[in-house]
Amino acid sequence: GGNGAPILVTGGAGFIGSNFVLEWLAGGKGPLVSLDKLTYAGNPENLTTVEKDRDYTFVHGDICDAALVKELFERHRPRAVVHFAAESHVDRSILGPEAFLRTNIDGTFTLLQAARVYLDSLGAEDRAGFRFLHVSTDEVYGTLEPEDPAFHEETPYAPNSPYAASKAASDHLVRAWVHTYGLPAIITNCSNNYGPYQFPEKLIPLMIANARKGKPLPVYGDGQQVRDWLYVADHCRALMAVLERGRVGETYNVGGGNQRSNLEVVTTLCSLLDELLPQSEFGPHKQLIKYVADRPGHDRRYAIDARKLEGELGWRAQESFETGLRKTVEWYLAHAAWVENVTSGAYQHWVTQNYGGR
Ligand code: NAD
Repeated sequence: GGNGAPILVTGGAGFIGSNFVLEWLAGGKGPLVSLDKLTYAGNPENLTTVEKDRDYTFVHGDICDAALVKELFERHRPRAVVHFAAESHVDRSILGPEAFLRTNIDGTFTLLQAARVYLDSLGAEDRAGFRFLHVSTDEVYGTLEPEDPAFHEETPYAPNSPYAASKAASDHLVRAWVHTYGLPAIITNCSNNYGPYQFPEKLIPLMIANARKGKPLPVYGDGQQVRDWLYVADHCRALMAVLERGRVGETYNVGGGNQRSNLEVVTTLCSLLDELLPQSEFGPHKQLIKYVADRPGHDRRYAIDARKLEGELGWRAQESFETGLRKTVEWYLAHAAWVENVTSGAYQHWVTQNYGGR
């Protein structure tokens, strides 16, 4: 324990995790140990700028590996855990739910158990200061009708996809570890994130990547599904506020109040691309939009009521959807090689070469 103690981040090579790690180290917030399995979604290339930072330690491994997790707690004696590691893509959860149950449920269970044992080894002061921050999603609440009020912290859980069900299960485990074992945990449920380093299977980076190649922009169903978008840096700032000042045992909803239909998002992206790529042979990019069969069980609408976080911790989203989306498109246009690398088999080969076959 103590002030020089690190935080232990899981999934720090993924989309939100990378942004969090970079922001944490840039802010000089102290040592950070990152445990990541480097699945297709984890990319150490996101973190090359901090590889040599004295405050940064990377561990290649699986959160389901109880012996490894126990050893990490004992060796690094963290003052907090920020738990991002998950299988996170709804479409993949429909095709193959097993990995979602394993990582999201068993993995969270493994971390909770290790944290419990570790806490028993701490003195009263370090124990009181310890935090387990569980990073979760608004998808646990299910779907909203157009006239429904936004999700708040008391909204009953009603997950509809295997992904959402596995995250809901993990939230319930965390809650039970608070109530049963006194684990000082906090849960955050955040709306859809977008921004740099998001794997190009998710809506926004997928559309940008396809548009650049003149490939169709696939829109599910009628495109009228509504999501509440939050720029990833705003999510990271919310997590830091919760880590520092959030109340143990509480849940905080995180969202930017930016409800947009998927079709609106795609058409806005097309206009931005038309503007930023005036010479493109594929413009106007709107002509690439192609309606495809809807995702089974597709939730119609998510919206977040973040008043608890705003009122208690003074957090506010700094980025509007328009400014955030522009920054995001500019980042992807400037990082075409990153997109190529993460979507090519060469990258997974490189991971195996550099990090072994764990
Ligand atoms: P991501 O898929 O981009 O990254 C997940 C990371 O976890 C990857 O680095 C991957 O290698 C790692 N990982 C996967 N399985 C692992 C295992 N068994 N052991 C160790 N590491 C493992 O996900 P993301 O979009 O960055 O989401 C991070 C967290 O935030 C998730 O828990 C997700 O449910 C939650 N969340 C995401 C969003 C969003 O819009 N992306 C919104 C709200 C909440």
